[in-house]
Amino acid sequence: MYRGRFAPSPTGPLHFGSLIAAVASYLEAKVHQGQWLLRIEDLDLPRQVPGAADLILHTMQAYGFEWDGEVVYQSKRDALYAEALYQLEQAGLIYPCGCSRKEIADSAIHGVDGLVYPGTCRHGLAPGKQSRAWRVRVNTEPTSLVDNIQGPIQQSLTHDIGDFVLKRADGLFAYQLAVVVDDQNQDISHIVRGADLLDSTPRQIFLQQALGFTQPGYAHVPVATNLQGEKLSKQTLATPLNPQHKNEELWQVLDFLGQTPPAELRNAGHGPLWQWAHLHWRMSNIARQRTIAIV
Ligand code: GLU
Repeated sequence: MYRGRFAPSPTGPLHFGSLIAAVASYLEAKVHQGQWLLRIEDLDLPRQVPGAADLILHTMQAYGFEWDGEVVYQSKRDALYAEALYQLEQAGLIYPCGCSRKEIADSAIHGVDGLVYPGTCRHGLAPGKQSRAWRVRVNTEPTSLVDNIQGPIQQSLTHDIGDFVLKRADGLFAYQLAVVVDDQNQDISHIVRGADLLDSTPRQIFLQQALGFTQPGYAHVPVATNLQGEKLSKQTLATPLNPQHKNEELWQVLDFLGQTPPAELRNAGHGPLWQWAHLHWRMSNIARQRTIAIV
């Protein structure tokens, strides 16, 4: 059974970039007669915008998405994350870390996704240091996957990432742990999402292996950027989706994803456009690129 999902973070309204991941994951699930679940990733409380989760759900409805089952909220699932962390602790895979951001910044080198933790607390907290966060001990084996769009990917977690945080200094569970626990708990068989998360995938596969979870299939779609190469996001002031222009926006997303929707459907209702998309969706038409600039 194919089970896909869309997992937006309620840090603001959905924008064109979010719609790309939503449409791709949705249509891929539909052509496989699969299910498609919606999960609100509202773990990172400091980054949340009040009302954004409800707004996201309303927007999804307005654009004609139909999801299966109840919407899942990460903020209500701490017990599941704590259980997974406990399992890793029992296996001797995690350790408390007392380093401040500044201490890490002073001694770490840059990896593929920020600073590589230099392993300072790996063999125990130095005297007088308080535990702040919990990190997982990564291994030196290369972690690899074959992404269904981007092809073969390999990372050395030791060199490229370092021991990464599973429970943050502010007590919140980290995205990398939560996403792995939820994808397993919700029986997600295939993950289709933006290529900005490709560099996180080896960390997630490593955790799946450590926890004895099933590894889902992965497909990372290109991320839309502005002409400066910056990902469309709240930080780069991406324009929120406007349901009054939903047909045009959906058409543009299908075009971005290489599906060549017919021009005459550009101004038709969104019903006929969705119908066309359900019939013609081919993931193989998506460009094998991590980013595509849009004007
Ligand atoms: N919540 C993440 C985001 O909005 C997506 C996580 C995922 O798809 O794994 O970027």
